[in-house]
Amino acid sequence: MNYFTESGNVRRERAFGVIEWRAGGDKMELKSGTIWRRAVEAAGLGDIHDKVLCAERLSFDDGMRLYAASQLNVVGYLANIAREKHNGNVAYWVRNQHINYTNVCNKGCLFCSFYARPKDDARAYCMTPEQAAQKVANYLDAPITEIHVVGGVNPKLPYEYYIELLEAIKAARPEAHIKAFTMVEIDQIVRRAKKSPEEVFEDLKAAGLDALPGGGAEVMSERVHEDLFAAKPNAARWLELAQAAHRCGLKSNATLLYGHVEQTPEKVEHFMRLREVQDDSLQNTSGGFLSFIPLSWHPEKTALEHIAPPTGVEDLREIAVARLMLDNFPHIKSFWIMNTAPVTQCALWHGADDVDGTIMEYEIVRDPGSDRKQVLTSRQLVEMIVEAGREPDERDPLYNVVSRGLESVSSVESLLSQRFANQGHNAANLDIMARAEVVTAAQEQKSKLSDELARRS
Ligand code: SF4
Repeated sequence: MNYFTESGNVRRERAFGVIEWRAGGDKMELKSGTIWRRAVEAAGLGDIHDKVLCAERLSFDDGMRLYAASQLNVVGYLANIAREKHNGNVAYWVRNQHINYTNVCNKGCLFCSFYARPKDDARAYCMTPEQAAQKVANYLDAPITEIHVVGGVNPKLPYEYYIELLEAIKAARPEAHIKAFTMVEIDQIVRRAKKSPEEVFEDLKAAGLDALPGGGAEVMSERVHEDLFAAKPNAARWLELAQAAHRCGLKSNATLLYGHVEQTPEKVEHFMRLREVQDDSLQNTSGGFLSFIPLSWHPEKTALEHIAPPTGVEDLREIAVARLMLDNFPHIKSFWIMNTAPVTQCALWHGADDVDGTIMEYEIVRDPGSDRKQVLTSRQLVEMIVEAGREPDERDPLYNVVSRGLESVSSVESLLSQRFANQGHNAANLDIMARAEVVTAAQEQKSKLSDELARRS
């Protein structure tokens, strides 16, 4: 409940205490000792709590302490304050389609299970622009707003291929935004073009590029770069290309691949470098980073298969620390396909405000023996968000709101359900709502949602 105090401040009563916004400013103060405040103090994070409430920037040492704190729920609580400051109660989702145009790659990153060596004929594939366009055409009956295009660094592809790929995809679906190419691919495209990065970005924009997805930096550490992905551009080059994209007015994302051999100071340094570039981009360009996406590493079928994958607790902590450290990033995404739909539901209370989207097909992390199609339908994404207690907003890649709440969900649901029903993929993800034995508040919300959808159809 919100109300005005005699001094004109806005006071808001929450389950964990009372928060007050001073009149004429956006600073917040926690007005009373509360259960949460005591928990924060017990975790030794009282000073960070104060900084978060007053929107003060956290330091490198603060980041280290957030990783070291044993009480994940307290770190999550702090991240949720920042999350609600940036995005209120909204959780974004997107109707998107992924296209991985080639798996041929000469970089040989040790953490990667996706790539095939250029001479690995058995696994290698490379779509023609026409084949990629056909993939887009296959889903024209679904109201997709984003085509996400990434692939390996295929040394045989000429500059013209990338231009024709974008043009073909744009022609197949002119109304959709194309979000394409990691900075690693951009580095390769720039080399093939023999032009400046800015000239290449202008060419790609003219061919249909609308935004960049953000992968490829992995962890900004020279040590990890040398040990795991030495053939790829280093952090300095990745950041240089991101800044060039921003100067050309393009929005991009950034990621952190965690859970392999990286160390905590390297992750905090990663945040510090991204935050610095974002400050510059926001001040001096019309581009910038839109979203940060912590990527939970999957060791299966990589050269590092002996390393245990990250746990759900690690996944949630990465989301939370990212939200707290990256105060100039508008959005933090929990990419459900990497850290599962159930962890993503929890992540919506640990700093995340975006769950990504319908995906359709995803090759980067997969079990080659199983069905390659990985999908949550629009309704399942909305149900996932509603059950978690957040308000679903469908977005496009630039975070323009396409529909709110249940608008337009029911009309496409039957179509997508029919297409993917009984194909046996992602059973665990598709079953997340099938717990009927106990009626919880969340299930009541889900039940109301189902009634509303039934009423509309
Ligand atoms: S992570 Fe990317 S650059 Fe590295 S091997 Fe895999 S596809 Fe190639």
